[in-house]
Amino acid sequence: MALADTDTTTVNAVRPLAVVLFGSPGSGKGTQSKFLVRWLGIPQVSTGDMLREHVRTGTAIGKSIAARMKAGELVPDRLVNELVFERLSRPDCERGYILDGYPRTPEQAAEMLRVLGAAGTAEVVIHLVVDYNVIIARMAGRRVCPTCGTLYNAISNRPVQEGVCDLDGATLVVREDDRPEVVRARLNEYEALTRPVLESFRQAGVKLFEVNASDQAPQQVFEQIRAELASRGLTEPGLVEQSPAARGRTELVGK
Ligand code: AMP
Repeated sequence: MALADTDTTTVNAVRPLAVVLFGSPGSGKGTQSKFLVRWLGIPQVSTGDMLREHVRTGTAIGKSIAARMKAGELVPDRLVNELVFERLSRPDCERGYILDGYPRTPEQAAEMLRVLGAAGTAEVVIHLVVDYNVIIARMAGRRVCPTCGTLYNAISNRPVQEGVCDLDGATLVVREDDRPEVVRARLNEYEALTRPVLESFRQAGVKLFEVNASDQAPQQVFEQIRAELASRGLTEPGLVEQSPAARGRTELVGK
């Protein structure tokens, strides 16, 4: 047998890639997540979707958070952390995942960095920067399909037939927490509790870049994101780490 075949220094560790989509409510995290899922082939982990599903199906968790969700208030860190880490432990997240709406407080960020650090995950944070006036206008025009959850927007992503889901024909509705008074509460909460997360990331030296998502079509925003990730070599989630000899030829994701 050739020496290379018995080389015990070959490491077949998968290094997951965590793409964190960060931005205020209405900044387009959900839309960009969908583009990234298709491009990178890793799942979207949306805490908003997970929590809404608990409310919709009436679980004990759902009952405990329904009032807060309706008012646009954040739900407790411990609960969100548990849901997220359980989700990330599933096999489809092995190569990586897109985090949409998490972390949203410095406490969640600290816990995320601790757990991901222990797992050897490569993180990159994409900050979608949007003018608040644009957000208020955008969210006023937002409609959701109550059956499949697809989001539409009167400005940037209209359904073929007004008020009707393209995918299943259901009548579109305004999400409870997209009502203007709730949007304002959510933006205030974002400023007070979530924006400081950026400072936590900077202090921890996490890779972070900003994308202007105010006045461009979603596809154009995505092209910017794609270029930024490509320039950092972050286009192959879960790239297998190779033996030291081979490592010189292939760069490890995130290094
Ligand atoms: P989203 O769809 O991401 O805007 O989230 C909708 C709602 O779910 C928020 O207004 C919060 O009530 C709750 N939520 C989502 N993600 C989190 C999080 N990371 N921490 C606390 N609450 C969250």
